[in-house]
Amino acid sequence: MIDKHNEDRVTGQPLDWMKAELQMLDETHRLRQLRSSERLPDGRIRIDGLDLLNLCSNDYLGIIGELKAPALDCGAGGSRLICGNHPELIELERRLAELHGASSSLVFGSGFLANLGCLTALVDRGDVIFSDKLNHASIIDGALLSRAEHVRYRHLDVDHLETLLKKHSGARRKLIVTDSIFSMDGDVAPLERLVELKLRYDAMLMVDEAHSGGVMGPRGAGLSAALGIGEHVDVHMGTLSKAYGGYGAYICGSDTLVQYLINRARSLIFSTGLPPSVAASASQAVDWIAHADQRRQALQVNANYFRSELQRLGLDTGESSTQIVPMMLGSENLALRVSESLRDRGIAALPIRPPTVPMNSSRIRFSLMATHRTKDLDVALQAVSDAMQE
Ligand SMILES: *Cc1c(COP(=O)(O)O)cnc(C)c1O
Repeated sequence: MIDKHNEDRVTGQPLDWMKAELQMLDETHRLRQLRSSERLPDGRIRIDGLDLLNLCSNDYLGIIGELKAPALDCGAGGSRLICGNHPELIELERRLAELHGASSSLVFGSGFLANLGCLTALVDRGDVIFSDKLNHASIIDGALLSRAEHVRYRHLDVDHLETLLKKHSGARRKLIVTDSIFSMDGDVAPLERLVELKLRYDAMLMVDEAHSGGVMGPRGAGLSAALGIGEHVDVHMGTLSKAYGGYGAYICGSDTLVQYLINRARSLIFSTGLPPSVAASASQAVDWIAHADQRRQALQVNANYFRSELQRLGLDTGESSTQIVPMMLGSENLALRVSESLRDRGIAALPIRPPTVPMNSSRIRFSLMATHRTKDLDVALQAVSDAMQE
């Protein structure tokens, strides 16, 4: 029986501690909020009713709106190992393997799930993960969950990585893992050097091509394909959620890898497969993207233009060489202020602040699209110039 007096106290407010934490986030201007957003043509977006130029999208090629909705089930039916392995998923995997010249591919529910499932399956206690300091959150979480030793090398620093590989040469299994294009900096991993090191130190190499998939390489097959080193990437991870404009992700590699993951990747085994309609859309997207050379070219032209114009204004775009272009500001408050001022001038571009990036490296991150019109980019550049003078 519940004691009335006690009940009052207990039913008090068990989640009150959250309010204090949220208030702290609010006071430090770090409170994240969900806003309603709808995509408009020509790289524009409506956020909370405001029509803005969209410089914060991962839809780099402008694929959203280009594909027909497939007339297929929206229900998934269960884990793929039980009764959720619709032929559309098998067909999608066939196309992805073919695109990457791999023997096999395995589709996961999302990129986050693919990284969690793959990293926890590939390494365990007694093994070592060598991870670039700026790798995506899902790689960091997968590494922590794997129980392997998690060794982080300085961003893009292959000499530092080599020192660490030497130091841990006695480990059972070694896995080097990197983003291809880094999501907050728009710079590119030194994949050729990583291949040399993985061969020299007998390590596995995993590359997360989330931001390069669809954007780089022949048929949009990614950075490793562009460099012609796909065969040395043991574990190729790609998402269907960025340039592919859909949902889901995949691993490509050998038959052995895929068979192993089917048996050991818990985020595949204990999670529902993609609905057939989502898989069929992704197959359409693979096809559309393979033929999207013009979009890839337009994206590069827009990104190069925007980046060099920012530099001409005296702004610091870091080491970006891709469609992700940061404008380094340093202070959190400045990043926040500039982002608000840009929104008032019709531009959607988000401030990126700690803990997403290191202290004192706050920035505005611009994501370019193939469908941006030059005149709109010029308006955005003028807005940046004005906002910086304020
Ligand atoms: C977005 C992203 C992911 C996660 O992919 P989702 O399909 O959105 O879950 C993983 N890795 C990198 C580098 C990403 O940018």
